[in-house]
Amino acid sequence: LALVTGAGRGIGRAIAETLAREGVEVICVSKSADSCGGAAEAIRASGGAAEAMPVDVADGAAVREACEIILAERECVDVLVNNAGITRDNLLFRMDEQDWEDVLATNLTSCFHWIKTLGRPMTRKRWGRIVNVSSVVGIAGNAGQANYSAAKAGMIGLTKSLAREFAARQVTVNAVAPGFIETDMTAGLDERIREVAIANVPLKRFGQAEDVAEMVAFLCSDKASYVTGQVFTVDGGMVM
Ligand code: NAP
Repeated sequence: LALVTGAGRGIGRAIAETLAREGVEVICVSKSADSCGGAAEAIRASGGAAEAMPVDVADGAAVREACEIILAERECVDVLVNNAGITRDNLLFRMDEQDWEDVLATNLTSCFHWIKTLGRPMTRKRWGRIVNVSSVVGIAGNAGQANYSAAKAGMIGLTKSLAREFAARQVTVNAVAPGFIETDMTAGLDERIREVAIANVPLKRFGQAEDVAEMVAFLCSDKASYVTGQVFTVDGGMVM
């Protein structure tokens, strides 16, 4: 059983679909019921097993409540993918404290809540996979994204620390760091910024959500049992 956050659209949806194609039952979490409901419905329509669960991941109490509902019926969630994320870009001097708080809560603190609740049964079962979807800006930084890059860098520190904490129980914790991926999050970029972005990508194009999903699916599989505490960039060679 896998739980993917932000599974309604973009990268998270591609991750949920890829895991489902590999025969994994998936709980699709996103903020809006329509969004995660649509993703779960599409998986079921193509023969997979999925259910939807609308949860605001920035709300710790809501995350704990969702986990209680799941664990009342199921022994364990074997695979957790923390993918839900938002941006609220601005230069630091123009950034509101609320934009800082919202981005930290949605991208980073959410991981703390999900892992704290779902990690315990994983360690008890002595098998588990946790993948946190960070970003290349968590490695390299980016002007105008101090809040987002702090959150994404925080996810990397969290990943490495928990990889050490959980290793003895055969629960692996890894991060993926996508570069420019074609989703709603990047659809708003203006043409000039897109051109500059592509100029900085050695493969000279944006990636697709599926490119990230394949990496995540590998890390969630038995094949990756000796891989933990790592960050995998999926960015067309941008950060080396
Ligand atoms: P997206 O298309 O904007 O989709 C974001 C997903 O996260 C949606 O399903 C959304 O739910 C969900 N979400 C946002 N806030 C939430 C909340 N408070 N509670 C629950 N769910 C919430 O984004 P994406 O491009 O696929 O990005 C996915 C992840 O990859 C993010 O963590 C992002 O930071 C990271 N990333 C993306 C790129 C890129 O180029 N696209 C690059 C690097 C890293 P609804 O559908 O219900 O609205």
